[in-house]
Amino acid sequence: MKTREEYIESLKKLNLEVYLLGEKVENPTEHPIIKPSMNSVAMTYELAQQPEYEDLMTVTSSLNGEKINRFTHLHQSTDDLVKKVKMQRLLGQKTASCFQRCVGLDAANAVFSTTYECDEAHGTNYHENFKKYWDRVQKEDLVVDGAMTDTKGDRALSPSQQADPDMYLRVVERREDGIVVRGAKAHQTGIVNSHEVIVMPTIALRPEDKDYAVAFALPADAKGIFMIYGRQSCDTRKLEPNADIDVGNKNFGGHEALMIFDDVFVPNELIFMNGETDFAGMLVERFASYHRQSYGGCKVGVGDVLIGATALAADYNGVPKASHIKDKIIEMNHLNESLYSCGIACSCEGCATKAGNYYVDTLLANVCKQNVTRMPYEITRLAEDIAGGLMVTMPSQQDFDNEKLKPYIEKYLKGTDDVPTEDRMRILRLIENITLGTAAVGYRTESMHGAGSPQAQRIMIGRQANVAHKKELAKEIAGINKKK
Ligand code: SF4
Ligand code: FE
Repeated sequence: MKTREEYIESLKKLNLEVYLLGEKVENPTEHPIIKPSMNSVAMTYELAQQPEYEDLMTVTSSLNGEKINRFTHLHQSTDDLVKKVKMQRLLGQKTASCFQRCVGLDAANAVFSTTYECDEAHGTNYHENFKKYWDRVQKEDLVVDGAMTDTKGDRALSPSQQADPDMYLRVVERREDGIVVRGAKAHQTGIVNSHEVIVMPTIALRPEDKDYAVAFALPADAKGIFMIYGRQSCDTRKLEPNADIDVGNKNFGGHEALMIFDDVFVPNELIFMNGETDFAGMLVERFASYHRQSYGGCKVGVGDVLIGATALAADYNGVPKASHIKDKIIEMNHLNESLYSCGIACSCEGCATKAGNYYVDTLLANVCKQNVTRMPYEITRLAEDIAGGLMVTMPSQQDFDNEKLKPYIEKYLKGTDDVPTEDRMRILRLIENITLGTAAVGYRTESMHGAGSPQAQRIMIGRQANVAHKKELAKEIAGINKKK
């Protein structure tokens, strides 16, 4: 396994083509806007080296018997699925942001089982391709992004019906030694901190969409790939001199980017689907379900930090004993633990796939994510309620550092006498960061749209809930169709 330092060194060796605020970034690992997100991923390496987290963060590989980081594991039991969620909660607590490495983990588990079943049906060799690839990922302890979401153009049209055929990533050329692909993947979490990327289709496909049924892996710096870094609310605060208090979470963050594949060559051995439209839906559904499980861990961990910050804001205001404050904190915990319960439940109810790795209960995973589209919003509302308006009207750090202004800010923005004004400012800025600032991408809007927008989960819940069986139950109890 790599150490944190080895991970950062390995990133420096990549030749990524990244654009941010209109300019090419020469050294992404040192860029003040990008670096906090790299620190979040680095935490997945750091914790894996610590004896107290060994059981959660490391595991024995099913492919090669070596000790590996759990972020590269193919789940072998429901216990593995549960530990994944617990690991994600821990990382959320340590970073208060999206730590990005789950996407590749979820993609790997989905590709592993889907390629097995695709090979069975079509006589292809994708599963072996994938096993060889993933064995290397585990041994080299790599960060792999999972690229699913196409840009989609006109949502009413299928991929092959689009006015521009590149709105979904597709194969533009088939060669003896591989394929050439073109397209773009949107919202690519953590791609600038990744060594590799696994690309998958974004929806179930019909036979006429054959060129869009494509899955493969590539190094993130493969020729023809480039990334345009996503803008986040308050991101340029990180560029201010001595940026600290106003950033809210100085050391950690997440990121997304628009990833362009400008006629990129993929060699045969890295292809995991090439035209098998009948397996696109399975791959999408499995990846989505794993990632919907993930949100029952990561968002809960960030929620823990937000609840802690909110309770501190109440302490600093001198109102921790007010009954409505106590009740609101209880409500925040109730909502947060409800999300966790779903993450744990869909893991406990998981089962083995034909390929042997474990898969979550899809109904419960979709219920988990559907709750994530709502409950963090209510947790956020309560945090803002308790934090008070000062969270968004407070003077800047530059004002606080100004000799003339500092004594006035210290005097008038003080809460309880025993707490320095600066501490109060720091905790309010942290709440602002999670609810409105750079981390809000991960905690709020990603809660809505990450791992699929709410309607996608409702479709799955509708399919999986077996209402016909429930009707039978009701008929039985009501005595309908029973012979007297
Ligand atoms: Fe992991 Fe959560 Fe970020 Fe997805 S949103 S990559 S599950 S931390
Ligand atoms: Fe996400």
